[in-house]
Amino acid sequence: MTIHICTTCGTSYPDTAEPPKRCPICDDERQFVPRSGQGWITPARLAASHANAWRRLEPDLFEVHTSPGFAIGQRALLLRLPTGNILWDCIALFDEATEALLRALGGLSAIAISHPHYYTCMQDWARAFDCPVHLHIADADWVMRGDPLIRHWEGDTLSIAPGVTLLRLGGHFPGGTVLHWAEGAARRGALLSGDIVQVAADLNRVSFLWSYPNMMPLSAATVRRIADRLRPCPFERIYGAFTGRQVMSGGANVVQQSAARYVELLQSEQS
Ligand SMILES: [Zn+2]
Ligand SMILES: [Zn+2]
Repeated sequence: MTIHICTTCGTSYPDTAEPPKRCPICDDERQFVPRSGQGWITPARLAASHANAWRRLEPDLFEVHTSPGFAIGQRALLLRLPTGNILWDCIALFDEATEALLRALGGLSAIAISHPHYYTCMQDWARAFDCPVHLHIADADWVMRGDPLIRHWEGDTLSIAPGVTLLRLGGHFPGGTVLHWAEGAARRGALLSGDIVQVAADLNRVSFLWSYPNMMPLSAATVRRIADRLRPCPFERIYGAFTGRQVMSGGANVVQQSAARYVELLQSEQS
């Protein structure tokens, strides 16, 4: 038997002889099932046709993404810390090369994930390094393959290492989480934001949506709350979910200005 991975979102499902009939993550209105129907792939087939590519974003921050692009196409970020490495967000392909490179970099002490679209094969990354996976409890129903290494946390903040704090902002998912890294960007602070604060094509803007593929907005009150929750946090950079999507300077102001403009557009009476 083998686990099965949804080819549209990258979510993994338990070992069974046959793949499941549906992917609840893709059946949800925030995602979609393609016209061609629900597709599945096994880890062995994924590893045979794809590889992971690495990039260094700053001295202790690496990006890993799958090439050619697979499913949603997000990147995972590896934070290299003296207290142990942290993987932020996750991708479906965990092959032998990825495991060997991670071991050479010192392994993993913890995994933290912004929201269910990036849960993917977190169980396999965690088991290889016997490390916990920190997920917000508000999204617990979206775990499709349970694992004893998953630790659900409650509340609005969780410190997972010195200077590394998870902030639950909600929005795109009720448990939507970002990671604040105080020492990032040469100690000016960095926000690892997943889809919760989405770095836009104009790299001096961010946005906030309920559904990205189906282009459905969040309420003005929700966007205001997200911006308010981030106001006390100093950060210069924002590293978004996708390759090349990072705000390199003035990140905290970019969030406040983008949120204010979003609310203004929602509440505008102009046609
Ligand atoms: Zn799916
Ligand atoms: Zn998402």
